[in-house]
Amino acid sequence: MVIKPKIRGFICTNAHPAGCAASVQQQIDYVKSQGDLGNGPKNVLILGSSTGYGLASRIVSAFGYGANTLGVCFEKAPSERKTGTAGWYNTAAFHAKASEANLYAHTINGDAFSKEIKQQVIDTLKRDMGKIDLVIYSLASPRRTDPETGEVYKSTLKPVGQAYTTKTYDTDKDLIHDISLEPANEDEIQQTIKVMGGEDWELWLAALDKADLLADGCKTTAYTYIGKELTWPIYGQATIGKAKEDLDRAAAEIISSKTNKHVEAYVSSLKALVTQASSAIPVMPLYISLIYKVMKEEGTHEGCIEQITGLFQQRLFAESPPMDDMRRLRMDDKETNDATQAKIKALWDQVTQDNFHELSDYAGYHHEFLKLFGFDLQGVDYDADQDPIANW
Ligand code: NAD
Repeated sequence: MVIKPKIRGFICTNAHPAGCAASVQQQIDYVKSQGDLGNGPKNVLILGSSTGYGLASRIVSAFGYGANTLGVCFEKAPSERKTGTAGWYNTAAFHAKASEANLYAHTINGDAFSKEIKQQVIDTLKRDMGKIDLVIYSLASPRRTDPETGEVYKSTLKPVGQAYTTKTYDTDKDLIHDISLEPANEDEIQQTIKVMGGEDWELWLAALDKADLLADGCKTTAYTYIGKELTWPIYGQATIGKAKEDLDRAAAEIISSKTNKHVEAYVSSLKALVTQASSAIPVMPLYISLIYKVMKEEGTHEGCIEQITGLFQQRLFAESPPMDDMRRLRMDDKETNDATQAKIKALWDQVTQDNFHELSDYAGYHHEFLKLFGFDLQGVDYDADQDPIANW
């Protein structure tokens, strides 16, 4: 079939296998171009391994450090009539490249919050990999089924405390408009913490520890976004921010409960980027279009792969890495520093329907959005017939 993007609101409902493979290859090429990355992991478990920051973490582990990788993701397989999800094709492409490079890779597709998938991971590690020295927690999910009670929790994206009215950009209608977001109630806050907070991260580390699969000195990190004043009302100080605060609690708990293994647990703060998760957040498409403009002009623009290569090399595996006052590893300083934020704020105040395309880098945002699904990549023939079936 010939595959063209089918965009519905903030999501693209299909994906291009050859385009996803080209995007994975670009990331591998970037990592290889960095030369010797120094000390790093050898046996890595990546939870949320198929897209965005998790996929980048897997690529850096494998192609930057020669590590064995076990990935967990939640993706849809293709059929003869319908394409699979981008994460499915990214994973198939990653496996093909890992196999060419003689790197061990295994991926389990299923609900990482469930006991069954945790058991499958433990069985696979025991069979193939042994103890692991790095666990990446990069899940982004709108819901979670509690493994004990079966109750389904849903996350919401709402302000906390008071209603908030702000500008946003509707990517579907090409329209800048105001949105008013009502504050979350206590139940919505607690549900969001259940989904995106640290409880499942702790359960993973406890299960791995119980199965004696954590190497002495094993590192683990979960990813967060902290941002600044422009995004605080809808992110940092909103429901999702409350869930992310819970990661700080979980990191401390993981460290104190595994002193026998000297586990190092960190929350790592990364910059705002176009991913499937971030394009669903109101305000983010506008904010990201403006930061792309400013950071490209400053020469500091980075994608997932650059951020994660830097995180591993300069923070996670560096001797005495700098940390903030909450012991977090920060890779977001090029976005959140005052000078850059002042430029974004100036654009934010000026932006209207008429000048949006001139003031922002929406073209760059849109290109990155399409790229998430394997579209708009140079060198890919989008008129060519594609076999939607791909496996690993
Ligand atoms: P993403 O949507 O690209 O990736 C999410 C991953 O989680 C995918 O691999 C998906 O298959 C997997 N997943 C989702 N539900 C699952 C489930 N139930 N079981 C197994 N796998 C599941 O998201 P992303 O933007 O890369 O986000 C990853 C982390 O990085 C999140 O914690 C996010 O908050 C954080 N982060 C994102 C940004 C950003 O701007 N995108 C910035 C800073 C931090």
